[in-house]
Amino acid sequence: MRRFDQAYIDGAFRPVLGREEMAIVDPASEEENGRLVLANAEDARIAVEAASRAFAGWSTSSRGERIDLLNALADAVEARSDALTEATIAEYGGPVEQARWRAGLAATNFRVAARLLADFPFSRRINDTEVVGQAAGVALHIVPWNSVYNAISVKMAGALAAGCPVVVKASEFSPWQTELLSECLHAAGAPAGVINVVTGLGSVAGEALTAHPDVRKISFTGSTPVGKAILRGSVDRLQRVTLELGGKAPTIVLDDADLAQAAAQALAIGFANNGQACIAGTRILVQRGQVEAFSEAIRKAASGIVQGDARDPRTTLGPLVNRRQYERVLGYLRKGLEEGARPIIGGEGRPEGLERGYFVRPTVFANVTNDMTIAQEEIFGPVLCVIAYEDDADAIRIANDTPYGLHAYILGKDIRRARDMAARIDAGRVAINGLSHEPLAPFGGFKQSGIGREYGLSGIEDHLEFKAIGGGF
Ligand code: NAD
Repeated sequence: MRRFDQAYIDGAFRPVLGREEMAIVDPASEEENGRLVLANAEDARIAVEAASRAFAGWSTSSRGERIDLLNALADAVEARSDALTEATIAEYGGPVEQARWRAGLAATNFRVAARLLADFPFSRRINDTEVVGQAAGVALHIVPWNSVYNAISVKMAGALAAGCPVVVKASEFSPWQTELLSECLHAAGAPAGVINVVTGLGSVAGEALTAHPDVRKISFTGSTPVGKAILRGSVDRLQRVTLELGGKAPTIVLDDADLAQAAAQALAIGFANNGQACIAGTRILVQRGQVEAFSEAIRKAASGIVQGDARDPRTTLGPLVNRRQYERVLGYLRKGLEEGARPIIGGEGRPEGLERGYFVRPTVFANVTNDMTIAQEEIFGPVLCVIAYEDDADAIRIANDTPYGLHAYILGKDIRRARDMAARIDAGRVAINGLSHEPLAPFGGFKQSGIGREYGLSGIEDHLEFKAIGGGF
């Protein structure tokens, strides 16, 4: 039985002061396999104070020192990549190949920031004015459980490059991944207080951190309702807030697409990370005359889904993260049936041969209209909808008829047509024919999927205040 009772503050691991405990449950067996001692408001205060003390030194550190630290962070996470992968599998049942890829993103994020920092323009001249990018202050990064290494590293890389010390508030559902990553961060040798990590409840540690007056920048990744609450809470202090929130991405299958290939891609895009991905393509838009043929292609493609033991390299789909999420997803399955949707694959009940664990049957519903609950709300599980469209204009109308705007996918042969459609979709990223991820390109949402952008240069700029100094030349 593992016990997680440390916070990483001021360059050292120390026992958390909080006394409240939480059971850690293996989602594949439903057995308790650890205890988390939750950081409280006092732990939060100490972490921010450590970061505040580090601000003067880190915000005036040289470009070379920051590049060295970013490269050391990349080396440190690479050195533990097997352990990081194992923790993702054990903690939320991430299939091994996907878990390994996700662990690798952390090193990429640190290295990309180191490269960009080499010639990042902290000062530029506009006529007789110098425009200077100045470190914003202590940065608070609040992250979810579903992509722990990536969410922590991409925010941290931008903040450190900009000269901001960081306090990470990790999710209470990922203490193992957080502890291992913190060990890597420690091994990289940042000056004390530049990196701090606490794991606690959003309503306790999270609220104490956001309310601390020394926190000048908040970057949050998580659900839209919590993001809104954080934005509301920031009003009196006017902290700079970046929000990376939920999604309900459309996957548009153009009528010239190879349907067999498109069905396999749509399942991969929808079921990645066990369907627990903000970027998952959960609304598959298919030309009305092709819905029957596409449904048949989905049935065939689904025979390639292997559900179960996340350690088996053949497995493509693991369990949901916890009981709450499992019951939530089952609720949406019921709701879909009540609203008249018809499962092409999956549906209610347990997957065959999996009597324990938070496994749901991978489900694709047809007979869905875009106004149904399952087409409008983020389900965060392996539940997809096929929605019929009449023509390209109708596909774009449906794609944009959502409160969200994080990601979109287009599958088809005519690339010019796909690019023309991409230009008319309101989403922060549009991927044509695949799941491309470019870490140098900005990432973020339109509408209720968020405010601001991270990754690449945006990740650094997001942690700077810009000041114009006129005259004196
Ligand atoms: P969540 O919103 O429940 O929690 C996210 C984090 O916020 C956790 O660390 C939580 O403890 C903390 N938190 C909760 N209440 C808080 C409060 N009042 N004050 C401060 N912190 C608080 O989300 P989750 O269930 O952990 O993650 C899933 C959600 O994250 C999904 O909606 C998904 O789409 C979204 N997500 C978005 C992106 C993106 O880049 N846009 C990436 C991954 C996940």
